[in-house]
Amino acid sequence: MQDEQMTRMYEQMGISETVYRFGRQMEEKLAERFASIDRTAEYNQMKVIRAMQENRVSEGCFHYTSGYGYDDLGRETLEKVYAGVFHTQSALVRPQIACGTHALSVALAANLRPGDELLSPAGKPYDTLEEVIGIRPSRGSLAEYGVTYRQVDLLEDGTFDYENIEKAINERTRMVTIQRSKGYQTRPSFSVAQIGELIAFVKKLRPDLICMVDNCYGEFVELTEPSDVGADMVVGSLIKNPGGGLAPIGGYIAGREELIENCACRLTSPGLGREVGASLGVMQSFYQGLFLAPTVVASALKGAILAANIYEACGFRVVPDGRESRHDIIQAVELGTPEGVIAFCQGIQAAAPVDSYVTPEPWAMPGYDSDVIMAAGAFVQGSSIELSADAPIKPPYAVYFQGGLTWPHAKLGILMSLEYLVRKGLVRL
Ligand SMILES: *Cc1c(COP(=O)(O)O)cnc(C)c1O
Repeated sequence: MQDEQMTRMYEQMGISETVYRFGRQMEEKLAERFASIDRTAEYNQMKVIRAMQENRVSEGCFHYTSGYGYDDLGRETLEKVYAGVFHTQSALVRPQIACGTHALSVALAANLRPGDELLSPAGKPYDTLEEVIGIRPSRGSLAEYGVTYRQVDLLEDGTFDYENIEKAINERTRMVTIQRSKGYQTRPSFSVAQIGELIAFVKKLRPDLICMVDNCYGEFVELTEPSDVGADMVVGSLIKNPGGGLAPIGGYIAGREELIENCACRLTSPGLGREVGASLGVMQSFYQGLFLAPTVVASALKGAILAANIYEACGFRVVPDGRESRHDIIQAVELGTPEGVIAFCQGIQAAAPVDSYVTPEPWAMPGYDSDVIMAAGAFVQGSSIELSADAPIKPPYAVYFQGGLTWPHAKLGILMSLEYLVRKGLVRL
């Protein structure tokens, strides 16, 4: 195909020739990194297929079940497939798990008892967990049940403070929670290898401590998962990476048999455990989404890296920077002005397959201390494996963006965000 044809197609989409050419130059420089991402996807794709084959996934796994859901073949097989992918003894994968926070809340509450202490050796956990734990007082928090919490902040350079972690562990410490992705903080995300070192350190001091990893946004970014380096439980959301954009709801917890059994009893009821919970027709999308997840994650990663390089070249601070290795799919860009983050988000929205005609505006979202703007034209509401962006309207005016079910769409979204910034005179190419 002629480049002429492509340029015209982008023009029809609203991307000027200048922006298109600028993006293409950047993309050409990234060929080697993209090839390495494709190799990771290739490896992880086989990991998924192998787990499906070994567990004899069949057409019967996709049948609709309702009511109690006893002997739900699709559900039971899918849980074995997840255990196969994460190399764990067991897994709980359910549409009844409403989101990532719910999955984490179940994993914690199921395995802590009154008098136990939870330790976060990697600083402050994700916002929503503050209420689960009771860092911010909240109805039904772990704190209300007599579970205490202790936290060791990261050192200035973003590494683990081993000395104080050792001091923080006491006879009541029962569980350690480690968040792989930075989420919406400015610290770096941890590699699986770093998480492995931290777990080894903790286990050397106290082999009986349960190490849980919040794996949100990290699945399939690397060749291994935290469960390959000693994590007793890994936890995540199906409307992020492992749902592959197709799962309409759900969460997973994979790990040691006994711990997962506790989770099942907490999620449903003591005595019922994993035996109930009908899958209500979502199984096909769970399987197919998991099947697609490695390549979907690769698309999102390429988008994040292209954006980092484009915006770095335009003079903005980006986290991670254009060259850093990646441990999750989130990209932060500090645009420095309210107009900048608004234009960026409006560009992402304008490139969406759904709700592209909507203009996002900042609003006072509950739970946030400043106005927030969100761009999301997603098939699944709130899905952040789909191309999406959000930004609190406060200094340093950073936008966080992630996702992209296909690489061409991720690229279009980024070029459109740039187009909007150029039109507003906020970037000059
Ligand atoms: C998204 C996320 C969560 C919470 O997931 P929800 O599905 O939004 O409840 C927890 N931890 C991290 C690191 C996340 O990125």
